[in-house]
Amino acid sequence: MDRIVLTEALVGSPFGVLLLDKAVKAARLAGAEVSGVTVPRGMEPRLRCRFAAEAARQRLPCGEGATPGCADAFTAFLGERPVDLRVPGGLHDWHAHTQFAYCGRGIDLMDAAALSLALGVASQGFSEHAFALYFPSDALKFRWQGDAGFVERVWATAGRGRMAAYRAWVEGLRALLGPRVRFGLEVDLFGGGRFCLAPEDWQGWDYLIGAIHEVEGLSPGATQAEVERAWMRDVERLLRQPIRILAHPFRYFPWAGRPVPRGLYRPVARLLAQAGVAAEINHHKNPFELEFFRACLEEGAGISLGTDAHVTRDIADLRPHLRTLAELGLSPGDCLSP
Ligand SMILES: [Zn+2]
Ligand SMILES: [Zn+2]
Repeated sequence: MDRIVLTEALVGSPFGVLLLDKAVKAARLAGAEVSGVTVPRGMEPRLRCRFAAEAARQRLPCGEGATPGCADAFTAFLGERPVDLRVPGGLHDWHAHTQFAYCGRGIDLMDAAALSLALGVASQGFSEHAFALYFPSDALKFRWQGDAGFVERVWATAGRGRMAAYRAWVEGLRALLGPRVRFGLEVDLFGGGRFCLAPEDWQGWDYLIGAIHEVEGLSPGATQAEVERAWMRDVERLLRQPIRILAHPFRYFPWAGRPVPRGLYRPVARLLAQAGVAAEINHHKNPFELEFFRACLEEGAGISLGTDAHVTRDIADLRPHLRTLAELGLSPGDCLSP
């Protein structure tokens, strides 16, 4: 049992509370049992309160104590051992969300971009859900997928839901943030296999990610075989679209309460390779599909990395991805890069 010890430099950094979260995640991923958080003595009370609140969120007691005189804001200590909170060079995150997401629970794009830069992510991609930009917040129920008339009525409006506003915002951000921050969309299918992008919205993005969050046309009593056939049909349809990445490839199954069809690992890997689309390593509430990624490598499909961050603190959480890459015998340079 070790305490996480935060230095004066870390607690004084603009990312301080987020770095506490990074330190806890790094320690727990490494298998350490964390017993509490120590902050420097004599901290300004309001700041101390913020650290105590973050520690409480992590279910850790927070106390004051002596802390090392390390001047690097991005090093925390686990007991006496330094933990570098930065990620190694050359990692590209293609998949994060913004405050426009309905499933976002507190992400701010500017904070996220700054944190990603500070922690050494080589390029940061934001790929908002196209459906969230077009449709009202009950879009998460995916009823629009079977209602092409509704989709087309939204597309015929001047603002296309919030899409036109999002595009204008992104153009302003590009000028501010420069080319390290990249903008794409995460796009689903609708209406029997159409790509859910209005004609005006096919251009202007750095890349597109395809995703299957819901399979259209399945009855509630569908058998596993029927679900697998319909899902595979949608994978084939999605791979005919101009996407660079297939998001969280098999996530649909566990989220639908279904067993993951491991027999489809190789057919999907082969389709990805043929289409030149990368399979995404995504640890956001996802099962660990090492065998699928092995099949991708054998079949010649590319691999991309996505944090799928929906909260600012999850930006740059690429340590689980690094572990997966190591298990696959890959280095960051083997993954999809801009
Ligand atoms: Zn997704
Ligand atoms: Zn996503």
